[in-house]
Amino acid sequence: MKFNTKTIHGGQENTDPAYGSVMPPIYQTSTYSQSTPGGHKGYEYSRSGNPTRAALESALASIENGKFGLAFGSGLAAIDAVMKLFKPGDEIISTNDLYGGSYRLFTSIFEKWGIKFHFIGMQEAEGIEQYINENTKMIWVETPTNPMMNIIDIEAVAKIAKKKQVLLAVDNTFATPYLQQPLDLGADIVMHSATKYLGGHSDVVMGSLVVKNEKLAEKLYFIQNASGAVCGPQDSFLVLRGIKTLHLRMQRHCENGEAVARFLKDHQKVDKVYWPGFEDHPNHEIAKKQMKGFGGMISFTTAENTLKSAVRVVENLKVFTLAESLGGVESLAGHPASMTHASIPMEERAKTGVVDSLIRLSVGVEDEEDLIEDLKQALG
Ligand SMILES: *Cc1c(COP(=O)(O)O)cnc(C)c1O
Repeated sequence: MKFNTKTIHGGQENTDPAYGSVMPPIYQTSTYSQSTPGGHKGYEYSRSGNPTRAALESALASIENGKFGLAFGSGLAAIDAVMKLFKPGDEIISTNDLYGGSYRLFTSIFEKWGIKFHFIGMQEAEGIEQYINENTKMIWVETPTNPMMNIIDIEAVAKIAKKKQVLLAVDNTFATPYLQQPLDLGADIVMHSATKYLGGHSDVVMGSLVVKNEKLAEKLYFIQNASGAVCGPQDSFLVLRGIKTLHLRMQRHCENGEAVARFLKDHQKVDKVYWPGFEDHPNHEIAKKQMKGFGGMISFTTAENTLKSAVRVVENLKVFTLAESLGGVESLAGHPASMTHASIPMEERAKTGVVDSLIRLSVGVEDEEDLIEDLKQALG
């Protein structure tokens, strides 16, 4: 089955045994009746398993070309579950330019429990090896990175991870499986904030993991059930519905993203534009190799290069909404330094380029002319 068909049918049973409903019912139940102790129909309690969540988990595994999917109450809950694979003394190497909440989880919670993190630039994959020692257990990659849109060569990092026998996890939130499939490139775990493109309609908070290896899946399932950060059936239904149009939405996100990126690049009041589709983007060749398109996420700095100028632009936008988050059908604008990335200390932010004049756009699926008109008036 090819990708577009998979988004609609992949991992899906199209025959509901009760009434033939085409969409899986929302099993809004915490528990399931048993005919005799242990005599049940596959479900006992909805933390351990729920049929609507199971339908979603199977669809997630299918679109990521994995075997096992796990859904959680948020993207961070999914990352939290991965981190619980490790113990004090273990070391993890992570992209230095990453989602602020992931950084906060790593440094404010798991560092305290004795896990050591190395935050490094990974655009040159060879540079990773010197940080690997006998305690290293995992490499955590986010690509494209948030918000600087750097691209990391997943295949090259996977080769190093295999050679050194450490796990490779990829946060695939920005690209989605429509643009890149990390498991096919050698990753062991693919993670999503399903809140973003998978859900796609800014109406749900959810996270997911997909793996191929059965032993790893068992460990993660144990953590999912034992720690209990699961999502509810209604939310599972919404994300399952979102996935069914993922390919259509992503196609338009890419088209609009390109139009907006090119408009910004030529604009007098704009300094730098970060979008991996530009030929002069430092990682453009890798992006071309591992991604099917360049997505709808763009960051840029104002020519004035001040906090004030960036705030003025985001306050004046009308079609773009000033808000946290990304990946919904509607266009959003954010100011990373004071919003999504405020939990990263200023010195750390400065190292990766998250300056006060940086604006991040999640380009939606509206008409591109309206988006460009809006940016034109706000910049003006
Ligand atoms: C939003 C986001 C997360 C966290 O997901 P939540 O669903 O908000 O918990 C992790 N990684 C990336 C890249 C994100 O954009």
